[in-house]
Amino acid sequence: MNPVVIVGGGLSGLAAAVYLSSRRIPVLLLEQRRFLGGRAYSFVDESTGTVIDNGQHVLIAGYTRTMEFLGTIGTRGRLAVQSAPELVFHHPERGFCSFRLPLLPSPLHLISGIITTDLFSAADKLRMLRAGAALRSFRREAVGGMTIDAWLDSLGQSAETKRSFWEPLAVAVMNERIGVASALVFIRALRTAFLSGRRGAALAVPTVGLSDLYVEPARALIERLGGVIRCGADVAGSVGDGENVAGVRLKEGETIPCSALILAVPSYRAPALLPAVLRETGYMAPAASIPLSPIVSVHLWFEKEVMPQEILGVIGRRIQWVFNRRKISHEKGHEQGRGGHLSAVISAAHAMVDMGNDELIRIVLEDLESIYGANAGHTTRALVIREKRGTFSCTPEVEQIRPGCGTPVPNLFIAGDWTDTGYPATIEGAIMSGERSAGRVAALVEGRK
Ligand SMILES: Cc1cc2nc3c(=O)[nH]c(=O)nc-3n(C[C@H](O)[C@H](O)[C@H](O)COP(=O)(O)OP(=O)(O)OC[C@H]3O[C@@H](n4cnc5c(N)ncnc54)[C@H](O)[C@@H]3O)c2cc1C
Repeated sequence: MNPVVIVGGGLSGLAAAVYLSSRRIPVLLLEQRRFLGGRAYSFVDESTGTVIDNGQHVLIAGYTRTMEFLGTIGTRGRLAVQSAPELVFHHPERGFCSFRLPLLPSPLHLISGIITTDLFSAADKLRMLRAGAALRSFRREAVGGMTIDAWLDSLGQSAETKRSFWEPLAVAVMNERIGVASALVFIRALRTAFLSGRRGAALAVPTVGLSDLYVEPARALIERLGGVIRCGADVAGSVGDGENVAGVRLKEGETIPCSALILAVPSYRAPALLPAVLRETGYMAPAASIPLSPIVSVHLWFEKEVMPQEILGVIGRRIQWVFNRRKISHEKGHEQGRGGHLSAVISAAHAMVDMGNDELIRIVLEDLESIYGANAGHTTRALVIREKRGTFSCTPEVEQIRPGCGTPVPNLFIAGDWTDTGYPATIEGAIMSGERSAGRVAALVEGRK
């Protein structure tokens, strides 16, 4: 039997390959780059010897598909999960404020968290309780087509609750501004976090680089189970034999036969890789122009430790979240290192992604100094990472055109964080989509036996 070909070695492709090879279905995974991981990988910064991710990735305990995937590849223990959900913010007027959910049954934990936080005034606490109630009784029809901003307005949220809670949370979850991003998708993510159990919203942070958490262990498992992985294999298109996909064609000309095909590539790549029979009808053509949203990360190394917290949400400034890599990471060069190492994240960085490195570093330092004082001024190294095509922009319009995993061609399936997972662009969505497509392939292959 020809193998199932999976195009794309990001997390959706790796999850599909793990799923199929665990069922002894032969797979061949083709990745155009020289390394796996797609938008979630790590590398060594030669100047400091530290392992750096292409962008800080955070999960929540409520992401069940990801947790199970990590269990399967054996790296669940490389995540540090909060014992109780807690977000710490720095507010320009109120200073450091914590939003902590006690270990009470949901939704009591949410109510208690809102009442006890020092982040909101008494009037805003009432507004937040109203939003919490709306989250519980939410009806899809009532929010379809709305942006997050419009939804918050419909719940009477004040400008201050938007600034000090909704915006930092939404931009981290959606990688998009609240005036543009889909309320429906945000609400689903919030329900997973805040209503799926008392620890659903607990942050789960990798203690190792992304390649050691996801990529290399997944590769090792796939290969141990007999799957084949080829990096540097740039797929130019797929070929049909009438009703089905018969194989894929590489840029260099080689044709590789397949029994079924999973395209696990980003939205802007997928339409061109479809077989002619679908391309001619314009199937999935709008996916090629789904808007994208950039993410900028700025790593700074300091002579001294400057940040007591592990993670900080920054309100009312240009940086949004700061991660204390020295405290979070157990990688070599972090625990043993001296001084501080922070990573500042700017999501939905449309207005900042094209700024020069010096300007970005200056902005981050200014913001850090306004929080931590002059100590934050003495850096020993800085590194800027731009992910210009960080994620798809999850607007209400895009939500309408996200495809499911099946296609009109019976042995062709689509995976990726941008497909119809119900989630924003997340690792959870990527893994879920890969497993869904693989489940459909397995049913097809097992039905043929
Ligand atoms: C900076 C940053 C921070 C993020 N933070 C978080 C976070 O905190 N939490 C979270 O859950 N998610 C986060 N995400 C999102 C998460 O990384 C993605 O949702 C996920 O990695 C997407 O996986 P994927 O497999 O769908 O796509 P990708 O990772 O893009 O994988 C697609 C793969 O297909 C390959 N490919 C494309 N075309 C071809 C071709 N023609 N032939 C062969 N191969 C091809 C690509 O090279 C790529 O490896 C973040 C993303 C970024 C960029």
